[in-house]
Amino acid sequence: MVVTRPLLGAPLAAEIMAAVHERVEAGRTAGRPTPCLVSLYRQIPGSPFVFYARQQEKAARQVGIEFRGEIIPPEMDRVALAARLRELERARDVHAVLMEHPLPSELDFDGAVAELGVEKDTDGVGRANLGRLAIQRPVQIPAVALAAVKTLRHYGYEIGGSRVAVVGRSPTVGLPLAVLLASKGEWGNATVTLVHSRSSNLRGLLAEQSIIVPCVGKPGLLDRSVVPEGAVIIDIGLSSVPDPSRPAGHRAAGDADMASLEGWASALTPVPGGVGPVTVAQLMANVVHGWELLEPAKRG
Ligand code: NAP
Repeated sequence: MVVTRPLLGAPLAAEIMAAVHERVEAGRTAGRPTPCLVSLYRQIPGSPFVFYARQQEKAARQVGIEFRGEIIPPEMDRVALAARLRELERARDVHAVLMEHPLPSELDFDGAVAELGVEKDTDGVGRANLGRLAIQRPVQIPAVALAAVKTLRHYGYEIGGSRVAVVGRSPTVGLPLAVLLASKGEWGNATVTLVHSRSSNLRGLLAEQSIIVPCVGKPGLLDRSVVPEGAVIIDIGLSSVPDPSRPAGHRAAGDADMASLEGWASALTPVPGGVGPVTVAQLMANVVHGWELLEPAKRG
């Protein structure tokens, strides 16, 4: 029987956070102003946006980044939202802007984020950043995609030359990850299979893969009936499932069925505690990257 290695996110997240903190300190010493992240989100009952904003605020505070949470009011339309992002793009004291998604289609996520320059589009989900990633001249790369590849690297898995399946092709998660993995850059050179809701024969598509990265949002989608024995699973999926044994009545779940894959997959990122904390840390690294580009050092 295979012994499944748990790929915990905390050690890598701590490493990234320590490096970010050092860069913030060095930048401040060199005369840069405090980096500032603005996170825009809707306040919908039952949605995880408020929780995400709290996590970001806590991480930002740890590394010396100013955090401003901004609620998108229910009456705000696409014109007003785009205007707000234009304002934030012009604001000299703001270095990073994050817009939580999904947004209702009438708010036009893509059109709103397009108001941001590549440096301030801190999660790299605007069309300019995605286009730059596609031509292999990235500025900001989606934090979750970097979290997935950094987790592999941290635990010693070779990406170059490996066969990797990305399950899910959204423009903010699966697609940029697949592009990154297939690119010639330092996080790439994999042979990538991109699986989506119209793909048929999931088991057949995954059969030859050594690494599988689900990013779908369907708990239990991957179990040992479709995953080849010995595969490494980097589980990006994050859903809330009912669990009467928990005080909250629910718990977080990934796309991988952990119980089924234990003793079958060679390694697995748990949910919670896997890719999530690394993504938050990487988001802070993206903030600092944009800040360094926007604020040339004055001394040093
Ligand atoms: P999304 O926009 O809903 O995209 C889901 C993708 O999954 C789509 O491309 C869809 O295919 C595909 N899909 C749906 N059913 C499928 C099936 N049966 N087989 C194969 N593919 C299927 O979601 P998202 O924004 O990309 O997020 C995906 C997941 O990642 C969510 O659970 C989200 O919470 C999580 N997430 C986690 C983090 C983190 O830090 N851990 C960060 C961001 C997102 P079509 O394109 O054909 O519709």
